[in-house]
Amino acid sequence: MRRAAWVALLVFGACSHESGPAHAVPPDPDSREQERLQMVSRQIEGRGVRDARVLAAMRKVPRHRFVPESQRAQAYDDRPLPIGHQQTISQPYIVALMSELAGVQPGDTVLEVGTGSGYQAAVLGEMGVKVFSIEIIEPLAKRAEAILSKLGYAKKVQVRHGDGYAGWPEHAPFDAIIVTAAPPKIPEPLRQQLKVGGHLVIPVGKHYQRLLRVTRTKDGFREESVIPVRFVPMTGKAQEK
Ligand code: SAM
Repeated sequence: MRRAAWVALLVFGACSHESGPAHAVPPDPDSREQERLQMVSRQIEGRGVRDARVLAAMRKVPRHRFVPESQRAQAYDDRPLPIGHQQTISQPYIVALMSELAGVQPGDTVLEVGTGSGYQAAVLGEMGVKVFSIEIIEPLAKRAEAILSKLGYAKKVQVRHGDGYAGWPEHAPFDAIIVTAAPPKIPEPLRQQLKVGGHLVIPVGKHYQRLLRVTRTKDGFREESVIPVRFVPMTGKAQEK
C-alpha cells in the first residue's frame, strides 16, 4: 500500500511540473513484480530464509522469463515446473534456501552443476558472484545461455555443456558449489574443488534424498544434513558403479 502511494505521488509530481519533459520510464507490462514480491514474502521469508541479498535477488530476477511459454502463468507458484527434456526449474524456496546455504559474498566464485533453465545461476549472479554453470543436456545449456545473455547476465554467468561430475578444474577452487541434480553419493572432484571455508550444497541419495551442506575445513570436511528433498537424478558419471 505504502509503495502504491509513493508511485502515485511520483506520477502526480511528474505531471505537475511543466518546466521540462518528464523522463518517466514506461512500466514493463510483463514485469510481474507483484507476483514476485508475493512469492518472496509468502514462500521464502515465510519459511525462514533471512539472507537480505538472497531475498533482494529473488525479488528482482524475472523467474517467468526462464520457463517455457506454456508454463509462464505458473512461474511464481510454490513448486518446481517442467522445462523440457524431463527436467525442471526448482521450487523458488529451494533456490533461495540453497543460495542462502552457499553463504556467498559479492565477488566470490561459484560453481553450479545443473544449469537447467538458468534461473538459479541468475539469482547467484544478481547476488554479485561470478558463476560457472555446467549443464549435461546441450539444448538446455544453449537455451539457458541465450536467456541469461538476453537478460544481461552474460558477464556474471558462464555456461558450459558437459558432465558436471568432474567440476570445472580450470576455475577451481570455488567459494561455493551448488548442485541441482542428485547423485547417489558426493562426487569427490567437487569436494576437492572447494576452498577452505567454502560450502558445497548438494542433494544426495537415490529414492530418498537429503540436502547436504559440506564445509571444507583446514583438516577435512564437515557435513550437515538440512532437509529431505526430491531432485532429478544426476546423470553421466555419477550413475557409473
Ligand atoms: N538449477 C536449475 C534451474 O535453476 O533451473 C534446475 C536444474 S534441474 C532441477 C537439474 C539439472 O541438472 C537438469 O537440467 C539436468 O539436465 C542437469 N544435470 C543432471 N545431471 C547432470 C550432470 N552430470 N552434469 C550437469 N548437469 C546435470
